[in-house]
Amino acid sequence: MQTHFTPEQLRQPDIAAANQELRKCVHCGFCMATCPTYLLTGDELEGPRGRIHQIRTILEEDRADPPWAVLRHLDRCLTCLSCTTTCPSGVGYDRLIDIARRRTARAASRPLARRLLRQALMRVVTQPTRLRPMARLGRLVAPLAQPLFEAVPALRSFTALLDPLRRQRPARPLRGDYPPLDDGPGGGRRVALLTGCAQAVFGRAISEATLHVLRMAGFHVVIPPAAGCCGAMERHLGEQERARHRAAANVRAWLDAKVEAVVIDASGCAGMVKDYADLLAGDARLAEPARRLARNAHELAELLASLPRRPAWRAPRPATIMWHAPCSLTHHLRTPDLPRDLLRDAGFTVLEPAEAHLCCGAGGANAVLEPDVAAQLRARKLSHLQLPGAEAIASANFGCVQHLAAAAHLPLVHYAQLLAWALHGPDPLSRAANASRGAPAAPRCDSGLCTHH
Ligand code: SF4
Ligand code: SF4
Repeated sequence: MQTHFTPEQLRQPDIAAANQELRKCVHCGFCMATCPTYLLTGDELEGPRGRIHQIRTILEEDRADPPWAVLRHLDRCLTCLSCTTTCPSGVGYDRLIDIARRRTARAASRPLARRLLRQALMRVVTQPTRLRPMARLGRLVAPLAQPLFEAVPALRSFTALLDPLRRQRPARPLRGDYPPLDDGPGGGRRVALLTGCAQAVFGRAISEATLHVLRMAGFHVVIPPAAGCCGAMERHLGEQERARHRAAANVRAWLDAKVEAVVIDASGCAGMVKDYADLLAGDARLAEPARRLARNAHELAELLASLPRRPAWRAPRPATIMWHAPCSLTHHLRTPDLPRDLLRDAGFTVLEPAEAHLCCGAGGANAVLEPDVAAQLRARKLSHLQLPGAEAIASANFGCVQHLAAAAHLPLVHYAQLLAWALHGPDPLSRAANASRGAPAAPRCDSGLCTHH
């Protein structure tokens, strides 16, 4: 693709990097066939090739506040990165959309309700100390607020914020220092577990399951109170400085905890932590530790698969599970099969759906900011996942689990919950089935093996 940046513009590192990526694009359109928003709309501007054109114009014209009619197409991008996997020319679309989002993060052309939602996502959802009390309040007012949000089109997106409140009670985030439970292949290595932000409040059962698996595998696990949100939400919304602050706080917390490695059970957050080396490269004090920790940051399955031997897991009974590989695992980390293989190793029957490469609709913040697109993609994904004979759907990212669970008739679990079950932990299928029937999921571990309570 031809570009027309001035020499002055090209002296800016962001523009120089964007120019390099833009020039790789040969307009072939292969990426369009695997882009979920293009498949839904058939609109060139809703596909990667169209978005790349729009990004070029925004950058060439130095626009921080493009009209909403343009910006909307970029905002609707799920950042699923399916296009980067498909592109034969190696165009770094992830870099391009990151740069464009940083430029347009504060654009006033966005509708007011959207700007408010973006602030709510950054200031409340990513901070468990705020999210938990707000969620408790939200559960009280949800019956009144829901009809109002549904009746006013400008407020419809707010219903997505209420959805988890109807199904789950907010829990206190898991914190503490947990020695190994078994003389496993982890050899007593001291690792940090990142419990994140929304998962810390609404997905505590997942963190407990991961903790149990790691301890049974012989790891000494630390969950420092000062470590929290990975910063992916802020980065997705173009707020790079905020994301950098999150990364710095986490790196400091893990340094204080004196851990060798960091384990992340949300694949979206794992990709983000692996990028900490780049994010903190300009920080004189933290650049080197960030590089070391990012090198030793592992998505849970990646760590388990790298052990010299597997923990002694065994599925308590035969169960057929549908495997949903999140985009962050498929297109960012590029390890979509690792959890599936571990589940099979533990004795579960694991099936894979058609269109496994397509996003479920939860990409980025779209479950909240673009509920219509997110719901259409979810329906398409569930039509492939809910096959006769399957007992549950397993995934590797809290956002996907939450988003799919809101409309699925099969229970949704994280694969760590199945592995924990195979290591004498609680049965996640009966728990998830209860939650999907409307009973609140128990926020506390009932395995009797956690020492936290
Ligand atoms: S596949 Fe790559 S080179 Fe082809 S149009 Fe898409 S981004 Fe450009
Ligand atoms: S990241 Fe996903 S939604 Fe965005 S342009 Fe690429 S394929 Fe389409």
